[in-house]
Amino acid sequence: MKAVVCTELNKITVEDVELDPPKQGEVKIKMAATGVCHSDLSATNGTIPLPLPLVLGHEGAGIVAEVGPGVQNVQPGDMVILTFVPNCGDCFHCIRGEAHLCRAVPPTGRQADGTSRVHLKGKDLAAFSALGCMAEEAVVPAISVVKVKQDVSPRVAALIGCGVTTGVGAALKTARVKPGSSVAVFGCGGVGLSVIQGARVAGADQIIAVDLAPNKLEMAIKFGATDTVNGSEGEPAAKVRELTSGRGVDYGFDAIGVPAVIEQCYRATRRGGTTTVVGVGKVTESVQFNALLLALEGKTIHGCNYGSVNPREDFPKLISLCERGKLDLEGMITTTYTIDDAPQAFEDMKNGTNARGVIVFD
Ligand SMILES: [Zn+2]
Ligand SMILES: [Zn+2]
Repeated sequence: MKAVVCTELNKITVEDVELDPPKQGEVKIKMAATGVCHSDLSATNGTIPLPLPLVLGHEGAGIVAEVGPGVQNVQPGDMVILTFVPNCGDCFHCIRGEAHLCRAVPPTGRQADGTSRVHLKGKDLAAFSALGCMAEEAVVPAISVVKVKQDVSPRVAALIGCGVTTGVGAALKTARVKPGSSVAVFGCGGVGLSVIQGARVAGADQIIAVDLAPNKLEMAIKFGATDTVNGSEGEPAAKVRELTSGRGVDYGFDAIGVPAVIEQCYRATRRGGTTTVVGVGKVTESVQFNALLLALEGKTIHGCNYGSVNPREDFPKLISLCERGKLDLEGMITTTYTIDDAPQAFEDMKNGTNARGVIVFD
């Protein structure tokens, strides 16, 4: 079967790979749709350090084809969304209501027992988040799938696996945006647009989109931004403050992960406000805050992993918001690709042409 593999840094190819049957506590999924997420790109260029060669893909939905021994939560034929953070329900974090921090599957690209289920010419491949779902089929931990309603649109469901959940969750669950508040979102790719939608659902009064690309700012307006700031025209934090009576926003969101942008986002947040960092930065980089102002301005800085969601609880809610027209996920899918076109999908992402590109399987 075909899989999209990062064989070495900056090299993405479609390969014919071999897949083992599911072992204890694992399931085989026939993929229906897989989103092309910026974190996949980050794995290919070393920003996110993952072992190579690696099967890409961590944002997907499909049908359970086979279950291994001991699997209770799903059965063949079920429609599922893959979750790149497992959901064991039983670990230190899960029992404290922090399911988004569950570490029941280590982030090594291997299955829970430390071995691999997918191979290229007999050689083990790692799988992104133990999923590797940019492939026709994937064997994954059963605790990394969430059963959802059977008739959900697979490509919409796929987006819920990462970008949408991360962005909408950042607004609704990490920052808990209040009705009538002001919001600035730095970076208007798939995640940033989802933050904008989340802020809109939360009833934010003013949503300021910040990006360098005019086409992304146009998309931001379509998804709920009330104001736009082109970051290439002067200091964006100053522009955001100008738009908020000189104060800054109640809630700033970084959806880029670049230190200079995180610092801008913090400066664009008002005294006493909340800055939420959603963007995934480089492991080698650090962010600087003024040591005096950090205390005096009384701001809160939140790290946001997976929108602070509990996948089992929140995936169905996100589907419902979508079906009732409160979230527009279909509108975020600007291009669909076959698996053979995956390298092009990554080129398009680098060029910023898509809100979200999705690989759709037959
Ligand atoms: Zn992702
Ligand atoms: Zn857990």
